[in-house]
Amino acid sequence: MPIVVQKYGGTSVGTTERIGAVADRVVRTREAGKDVVVVVSAMGHTTDELLEMATEVATIPEPRELDMLLTAGERIAMSLLAIAVNARGCKAASYTGSQAGIITDTQHGKAKIVEVRPGRIQESLVAGNVVILAGFQGLSTDYDITTLGRGGSDTTAVAMAAALGAEVCEIYTDVEGVFTADPRLEPNARKIDRISYEEMLELAAAGAKVLQLRSVEYARRHDVPLRVLPSYTEGEGTWVVEEDDPMLEQALIRGVALAADEAKVTLDEVPDKPGVAAAIFKAVAADGINVDMIVQNVSHDGRTDLSFTIPREDLPRLEAVMQGIVSDIGAVRYSTDPGIAKLSLVGAGMKSSPGVAAEMFDALAAESINIDMISTSSIRISCVIRAEDAERAVRIVHRRFELADELLTDED
Ligand code: ADP
Ligand code: ASP
Ligand code: MG
Repeated sequence: MPIVVQKYGGTSVGTTERIGAVADRVVRTREAGKDVVVVVSAMGHTTDELLEMATEVATIPEPRELDMLLTAGERIAMSLLAIAVNARGCKAASYTGSQAGIITDTQHGKAKIVEVRPGRIQESLVAGNVVILAGFQGLSTDYDITTLGRGGSDTTAVAMAAALGAEVCEIYTDVEGVFTADPRLEPNARKIDRISYEEMLELAAAGAKVLQLRSVEYARRHDVPLRVLPSYTEGEGTWVVEEDDPMLEQALIRGVALAADEAKVTLDEVPDKPGVAAAIFKAVAADGINVDMIVQNVSHDGRTDLSFTIPREDLPRLEAVMQGIVSDIGAVRYSTDPGIAKLSLVGAGMKSSPGVAAEMFDALAAESINIDMISTSSIRISCVIRAEDAERAVRIVHRRFELADELLTDED
């Protein structure tokens, strides 16, 4: 029987009523003659609430214990859904990440899946069950419970779809699909019918959390057909496809993304000599912190300023090592700024079209929005701006590149 993997996000299983609606959809899929594997997130804001409680009892919670706590959220959702599906006369069984054979590395809080051993899940399917899996979690190579980073249930779903050779991995969420901008920030954003892996990777990396970055990477690497769909309606959603898909609409710009959860770190008067940057970023990486943008100024008198951005949630851990870095490299001081945001413009058409960056900067300047840092890839331009300007900036840039529905000219 063909296997379908369906993943339901937090809002989609946010109440027992919504869990009932998900159970109905799962049963319908099963009755249509498919083997169904469902991956669930924790209900509503459960993960945030658990995290909040942990930080009430410790400023920097012990990572192993934090993972043990957070995985409880998905465990509640999976068992409730299994109960609901069983109550509809359809056999279902739920499994934690470790029971399902999701093996990860040992990096608590952002573990990477290193292997999936789907034997138990396959047996359960053969026994006639709808299989329900807790997303976002795995078992490390040293037998501890791990989590896969925020939004990690998407990656659980894709990894299980790859391991089972599923015909599709469907990501059900609280919007109609992938849009030209977060529809909560830009009501005029347009749903995209098809998007390339390349563009989806850049949007996800730039903060469009509709898909976790790693899930897109994994799907591309393992050729998993990936689709984002609304859990509330019967909409067609968005297909993530290869760059050469004949149905992919050619567009200069695919969308705008906002990362509102980064922070900037600046080191003042860093000695400008070989090995210093390596020393700084080795120390930061050793703490498991991912650095995003890096900007180094022109040096004066053998010293320079250096700024970089990191996820804001990693700031307390970074602060703990920063003083040591400052004295090790002989810098004068450091400062942190949590009040920033990163705005990105993504589109494969940029590769062959000059002037996009200038147009973006001009749109921001026209509304007196100052740009603090800039970085680019061949299909992305990102600007660090003040957090208070961020949502307005999304709408300004979206409008300047005529991404809204009524302004579309290509296909209409
Ligand atoms: P889930 O709980 O289903 O995983 P998420 O909150 O992780 O849902 O992701 C869905 C959210 O992503 C949407 O509610 C939307 O606000 C946000 N989002 C950001 N950028 C986009 C985009 N380009 N297209 C669609 N949704 C986006
Ligand atoms: N519950 C986790 C989170 O809130 C994982 C997920 O939703 O995908 O990040
Ligand atoms: Mg999500």
